[in-house]
Amino acid sequence: GYKKVLEENRKLYNQVQDLKGNIRVYCRIRPFLPGQANRLNPVEDVDERTIEISATSKNGKGKKSFTFNKVFGPSAKQEEVFADTQPLIRSVLDGYNVCIFAYGQTGSGKTHTMTGPKELTQESMGVNYRALNDLFLITEQRKDTISYDISVQMIEIYNEQVRDLLATDGGNKKLEIRNNTANGINVPNANLQTVKSPLDVINLMNLGHKNRAVGSTAMNDRSSRSHSCLTVHVQGRDLTSGAVLRGCMHLVDLAGSERLDKTEAVGDRLKEAQHINKSLSALGDVIASLAQKQTHVPYRNSKLTQLLQDSLGGQAKTLMFVHISPEYDALGETLSTLKFAERVSTVELGAARTNKDNTDVKELKEQIASLKAALARKE
Ligand code: ADP
Ligand code: MG
Repeated sequence: GYKKVLEENRKLYNQVQDLKGNIRVYCRIRPFLPGQANRLNPVEDVDERTIEISATSKNGKGKKSFTFNKVFGPSAKQEEVFADTQPLIRSVLDGYNVCIFAYGQTGSGKTHTMTGPKELTQESMGVNYRALNDLFLITEQRKDTISYDISVQMIEIYNEQVRDLLATDGGNKKLEIRNNTANGINVPNANLQTVKSPLDVINLMNLGHKNRAVGSTAMNDRSSRSHSCLTVHVQGRDLTSGAVLRGCMHLVDLAGSERLDKTEAVGDRLKEAQHINKSLSALGDVIASLAQKQTHVPYRNSKLTQLLQDSLGGQAKTLMFVHISPEYDALGETLSTLKFAERVSTVELGAARTNKDNTDVKELKEQIASLKAALARKE
């Protein structure tokens, strides 16, 4: 009866979702910051899936539009951004591997999205904190049927070297990456810390941020030239059957994607820029080949893609937050960021968009809800 129809519908719903692929790209536009003088704004969020860039070129004024799975305008709150990320995060508890990236030029809001501003409040907390809080909440709800262990690692990749941000000894040892390990832990020598509460997470993240700042000065902000990755390992044990399931989530604040100014392109800066270039293009290549369902995926081209290999592709779910600065001065970088997004996206960008899939999903969702209600009345 109802149950069977409900099951059928759910199958269909999952199929429609699968068609859409496991790669999502969200675009977030940073607001103008207090005191910013240049208010000429070439970026406009048209609706919740489209942005428009107006550019003046030799050939006159033109507009180009880009479509994403979701667009967050300058006034979007951290809470809203998280709400659209939540289902992905929750799937870790069901044994999925998940990768969430923040991409964009320095100053475009990557750290704001993932962590939040320096002075954290409940309201300004970024995805990382909210994700862990959410995981604690659900494991508590499920505690009579499944017993979960949650542990975290925090590492940094700088100049193609992996460093432990939770090391208590400064973390200057270089770490090795292993893939396809039995326990799913691919940086076995990085500190792995069990967390039991949001406070544990805050303390660890503070330690990680402190360690990350080591070696940087005001003139030399290393955090914009390294990738940082918070990895959450989840292990759940079914209390009746004893079956164990593992999930893993990487929350990655990428190095700034800006191209180096020609005048700066010497010495250490040049070396850093080359490493960043190499790893971001390797990441782009991997996600693009997954989006296009190619058989060969080039994971081995950078430490970043090696680190994330087990969580990109297959059944894993990927979300890329692409960050845009609103200023006219940033236009060149904005366009190059959008070009990157275009490559990794399964959404056809710039083309006339169809809402058919969305309509199908929406209708099926409504049907599921009404069948559920009917079922509840029957029982
Ligand atoms: P990135 O990590 O990409 O270099 P940040 O996250 O540090 O950029 O953002 C640069 C500045 O802009 C910071 O002062 C940050 O607090 C502010 N900022 C970024 N995004 C937002 C936002 N959505 N709302 C308010 N302030 C933001
Ligand atoms: Mg940052």
